[in-house]
Amino acid sequence: MFIFKKWNIAALNSGVCFGPDQWSTDESTPLISSINPTTGESIARIKTGSLSDLEKLIQTAHTAFQLWRTVPAPKRGEVVRQIAEKVRQQKEELAQLITLEMGKPVQEALGEVQEVIDMAEFAVGQSRMLYGKTMHSERPAHRLYEQWHPLGVVGVITAFNFPMAVWAWNAFIAAICGNAVIWKPSSKVPLCAIAIQQICNEILHKNACPSVFTLFISADKKIAEQFVRDERISLVSFTGSTSVGEKVNTWVAERLGRCLLELGGNNAVIVDDSADDHLALPAVVFGAVGTSGQRCTTTRRVLVHEKKYDHFVSKLIQAYQSLKIGDPRQFDSHLGPLIDVSAVEAYRQAIEEIKKEGGNILYGGHALSGPGYFVEPTLARVEASCAIVQKETFVPILSIIKCQDFYEAVSIQNQTMYGLSSALFTQNLQHAEYFLSVLGSDCGIANINVGTSGAEIGAAFGGEKKTGGGREAGSDAWKAYMRRQTCTINWGQALPLSQGVKFDLHDHHR
Ligand code: NAD
Repeated sequence: MFIFKKWNIAALNSGVCFGPDQWSTDESTPLISSINPTTGESIARIKTGSLSDLEKLIQTAHTAFQLWRTVPAPKRGEVVRQIAEKVRQQKEELAQLITLEMGKPVQEALGEVQEVIDMAEFAVGQSRMLYGKTMHSERPAHRLYEQWHPLGVVGVITAFNFPMAVWAWNAFIAAICGNAVIWKPSSKVPLCAIAIQQICNEILHKNACPSVFTLFISADKKIAEQFVRDERISLVSFTGSTSVGEKVNTWVAERLGRCLLELGGNNAVIVDDSADDHLALPAVVFGAVGTSGQRCTTTRRVLVHEKKYDHFVSKLIQAYQSLKIGDPRQFDSHLGPLIDVSAVEAYRQAIEEIKKEGGNILYGGHALSGPGYFVEPTLARVEASCAIVQKETFVPILSIIKCQDFYEAVSIQNQTMYGLSSALFTQNLQHAEYFLSVLGSDCGIANINVGTSGAEIGAAFGGEKKTGGGREAGSDAWKAYMRRQTCTINWGQALPLSQGVKFDLHDHHR
């Protein structure tokens, strides 16, 4: 297949890369299969990493860091710019690979590759803007300022649902800051990671750079734990489920390391009585079924004002009837498959739970017979109090909840352990401002007349509560990848102490 030839995948078969032309040759480790979720077929087998590979990788990354930190930041940005250029040239093929291995519709996969490019270009600009502040010292003839240094080796652990973009959010910013990056992608999408690593290798080689970007693929949780626990990993940036993130947080805290967490979400859209359907309807449908409900920002709950309820729900059902489930390589498919058989099982169980708790399935509710892991996008009428509504089931089920008024909707929206993305559709200025005020949404992302899903990279991305509190991508998220140093320079002849403290040595001690 063309894609495989392009990235030399059949010949390569290794999931561990120490830098350009340095793929692991360890024969002892187990193979994993990359499965095409559209057909359920294995498309490649990949050698995973061993503990000794991991050790070698951490040492390699450390050595790379020693040199890379001395390269001027704008020069580091130039290397990232070249990676962006290569990714742009291969945008179509990379998107096809995402669709093949992860199953998201090709339109969305193209968007994901664009996000990689955007993130790289943002990082290039940022490489000239790693600003520190200068303060006025309270002491005469003193200069006081802050500067930022890289941390060291950054470990980036990513989820299956954005097999390229999440790495890019982290890796490009970490690299322009002067860190070396070890990537441990989800073992469900190894080929996407290998393809990106090949591009990095080519550019690193061309610029005679050290191994700034390296790769470690493993499905072994014990090895992953070891990676997280290793004191030489200065920052662990983890994107994945809240249950694994909680463990990662504990392991890193035990060694007083740094952790950046991007975890689960249970995002709601509030449809106010004044909402404009032309905006709200497509936003809710895209938010709920995009990536087959497998986005951290997927709309999982829609909270509809009772005055609007019947009308809006009938519109939703009509819209769902027009959705096309099918081969994600076709440009007109709205929904591709779920990632694997266990995701289909989670879907089935969630449907059962909704029914047990007295909910009504208004549309969908069935897994499709094979091949592949397809399910129907589902609309379920439920009460806000149902236990299932509090969970992040990573599938396309939208819970519809009727609310008496706007304020009740805000309160329900905040009644979940997650705090990632939130949205309000309204024409009411007071409601819009309330939603964005301290009394309103408690999420990291709060939108008015924009859905929950599909964030721009220019702003910081992340969420509160059990979403983990991390911020990545734009704004000042770069600071998480650097250490702050406060510097005081005395250019005078005396040694005044701060706060006016007096400490005079007797003459004979001088
Ligand atoms: P997951 O938690 O199963 O896996 C995430 C990563 O952690 C994978 O690389 C996996 O191999 C690794 N992992 C698994 N067990 C581990 C362990 N014991 N120690 C260390 N690493 C371990 O998540 P997933 O199913 O791949 O992705 C879906 C989840 O990710 C959802 O909850 C989704 O909301 C979340 N997510 C969050 C964001 C965000 O930015 N907030 C973005 C994408 C996905």
